[in-house]
Amino acid sequence: MLRARRDLRVKDRVHILVSLSLRQNNLRKLTKRHFDVLILGAGINGAVSAAALAARGVKVALIDKGDFGGGSSSQSSNLAWGGIKYLESGELRLVSRLCKSRNHLMRSFPSTVKEIRFLTTVQRGFRWPVSFLYLGTLLYWLMGRFATKPPALVSRENLSRRDPRIRSDAASGGFEYSDCYLHDNDSRFVFSFVRTAMNYGAVAANYVAATAAARKDGRWVVSIRDEIDGLTSDVECDVLINACGPEVDLVNVMAARKTTYRHVFSKGVHLMVDRTPDRSRILAFFASDGRLFFVIPMGPKTCIGTTDTQVSDPAVKVDDEDREFILSNANKLLNWSKPLTKEDIIAERCGVRPLAVSGQSQSVNWVELSRKHQVEVSESDAHISIFGGKMTDCINVGEEIAEIVANLGVKFPVEPRRWYGEPDARVKEEFVVQAKLLGLDELADPRSCEPLTDRLWRRYGANAFEMLETVRENPRNADRLLEHAEYLRCEIEQAGRREMITKLEDFLRRRSKISLVVRRRDIIDDPSLKEFCEILFGDQADAKLLEYIEQTESDGP
Ligand SMILES: Cc1cc2nc3c(=O)[nH]c(=O)nc-3n(C[C@H](O)[C@H](O)[C@H](O)COP(=O)(O)OP(=O)(O)OC[C@H]3O[C@@H](n4cnc5c(N)ncnc54)[C@H](O)[C@@H]3O)c2cc1C
Repeated sequence: MLRARRDLRVKDRVHILVSLSLRQNNLRKLTKRHFDVLILGAGINGAVSAAALAARGVKVALIDKGDFGGGSSSQSSNLAWGGIKYLESGELRLVSRLCKSRNHLMRSFPSTVKEIRFLTTVQRGFRWPVSFLYLGTLLYWLMGRFATKPPALVSRENLSRRDPRIRSDAASGGFEYSDCYLHDNDSRFVFSFVRTAMNYGAVAANYVAATAAARKDGRWVVSIRDEIDGLTSDVECDVLINACGPEVDLVNVMAARKTTYRHVFSKGVHLMVDRTPDRSRILAFFASDGRLFFVIPMGPKTCIGTTDTQVSDPAVKVDDEDREFILSNANKLLNWSKPLTKEDIIAERCGVRPLAVSGQSQSVNWVELSRKHQVEVSESDAHISIFGGKMTDCINVGEEIAEIVANLGVKFPVEPRRWYGEPDARVKEEFVVQAKLLGLDELADPRSCEPLTDRLWRRYGANAFEMLETVRENPRNADRLLEHAEYLRCEIEQAGRREMITKLEDFLRRRSKISLVVRRRDIIDDPSLKEFCEILFGDQADAKLLEYIEQTESDGP
């Protein structure tokens, strides 16, 4: 850390602050234009709404008081799943819908939303016998329209043969089924929709909070505050969408809106631990509270969780009870080379699931609480609130919001089009050919866990062509920049231009998952961090690095 502070001399070199100017240009546009739709909150719900509307030519603005995808959408289990656990509460329609959404995501984002096996161990004395649970997985597979590999029953002996880490002594057996995971990161997935919206002309800005909203003469006037410099101004729009996730209710109070739906919250924690995972599968168990508990591969490290605690305040933090619950369950259910302790924790993920309930009654049946999203519309005031939901259902949310906005009378100048998904197979083939001719994969650092061609395509799609060009111009652009993170110089340069990195943490935690898999101390002590920051922030590199060091001081080692 000291070395990082000592080395903070910004080179006297010409650097165009493209990333900051993208944000600054958008901030200027926000107050100068009248928008058809202003979306508050750029989590998954706000991001898909912006992309679906902007692709139809609607004039959209999207703001978030923090970074894009920095709320609940950065704290999920990273799964695109059909909600197998809701079979137990008999929510067949929800499971069928989520399975359909999962399949749709899997087809649309074949490099990012990947099928993975869930090897599930059932302890003796569990509330359901293994054979019955296995029948449940067959039903799940059927509800998933057979889009994944079929489930399999796994005997007790075979559990530890498949993964020697599983403690099978207290198990009655297990089963394996398929679902999907987000390869890179939930918040990177959210950002891909924000970027799509910007490609279609949406004006998006992070670190801009809505502080007041009022309906005047048939329009919405929303007061905003730039959280970086404190400046305030107003934005005008016809339709206002509140997609503030756990803060939807607060923001509705701010705008004097009364709604039928409201949120209750369930806190969920995951711990990132310093253990190399088996990347081919997720291990699933039933934890001591009877809920499904996952050991998930995340890049070179392992993510374990989650908890499910009812809370009344959405501003949550990890506490010792959460750590103890996760570590003790992980130690009880798995044979690690040595038991996991707090020292093995690299990073922590903590957020609330915003769950939609109707009515003001304080008594909520948590068991029967549906995880389905609800959209509440006030036609007279052209106001929309999005409650609850899952990452998995995001395409449906985008489509639904576009339809509602059209019904509110907003003109859609462009015909319906596909606003999500990777470019088609021919574009990918062309990329693979060009990458091969360039010898891209031979330029990869020998420590890389996957070929560069796959990685760049998955992360950047058609924008990866530009990276090939910069590597052709100068092979140095294919150098891995940070010691512990698989990012090339050309990726950082592109992020600086296109990804509105306003704080260093935006890149390390949300556009990438570096700070989830690399200890904070290793990041800060990396000799190339200075160059890394200069590429992202030019002559503000010094200040941005110090800001990161200070703001993450309490995040541990
Ligand atoms: C532990 C956990 C595990 C989960 N696992 C999964 C999973 O595996 N799969 C799955 O599909 N779903 C999962 N979920 C659910 C999913 O993550 C959430 O339902 C989803 O991310 C909610 O998205 P959102 O856009 O509504 O809210 P958020 O992502 O919280 O976005 C709301 C945004 O609004 C912004 N905002 C708030 N107030 C203002 C304001 N005044 N002005 C401007 N902006 C504002 C916030 O900064 C925030 O970025 C999980 C959730 C949790 C907590």
